[in-house]
Amino acid sequence: MVDESGILIIAAVLIGLWSFRWRWAAGALPPELKTARLIYAERVFRSRGSITLTAKLDRAYRVGTGPLILVELKTRRSHRAYPSDVIELSAQRVAVQAQTGERVAEYAYVLVERPSGRKAGWYRVDLMAPADVVALALRREALLAGLIEPRCARSIWICQDCVFWPECRLLQN
Ligand code: SF4
Repeated sequence: MVDESGILIIAAVLIGLWSFRWRWAAGALPPELKTARLIYAERVFRSRGSITLTAKLDRAYRVGTGPLILVELKTRRSHRAYPSDVIELSAQRVAVQAQTGERVAEYAYVLVERPSGRKAGWYRVDLMAPADVVALALRREALLAGLIEPRCARSIWICQDCVFWPECRLLQN
């Protein structure tokens, strides 16, 4: 059993790791954000409407009086941004705009670090339109409720990293 001081030590270690990770990330930010102000970090935002979207963002920066620019830090072996990053950041954009009324840029950055801690780089990604984010969230709900049939992934490359690959019935049809 962990006592109160143990919890405090664990919390301090986690905060230390988090800030170390972001100190690293600050050195790897794209040129546009080198002098930007950090506006939000590790915050949860929510949008309500035909569907409630809850999204936790890593960081949001602002250059001058421009829109917020979202940044997501990922640790992965591959040197790239994924479509799932675009979906995640697009949902963050919808939630931040709805909750704060602030403008959020139509693009965002994904910072990638290797599991070894080595810098891999940053990627600028174009975000989805809010209506497409809501449509995707509604489709997800319908899939989970069993109201519609899932479709196979468009590319076999996506399947190769999927944990459901060994038993995927979509691939067997
Ligand atoms: S293995 Fe199946 S569940 Fe996984 S991405 Fe491919 S089609 Fe989708």
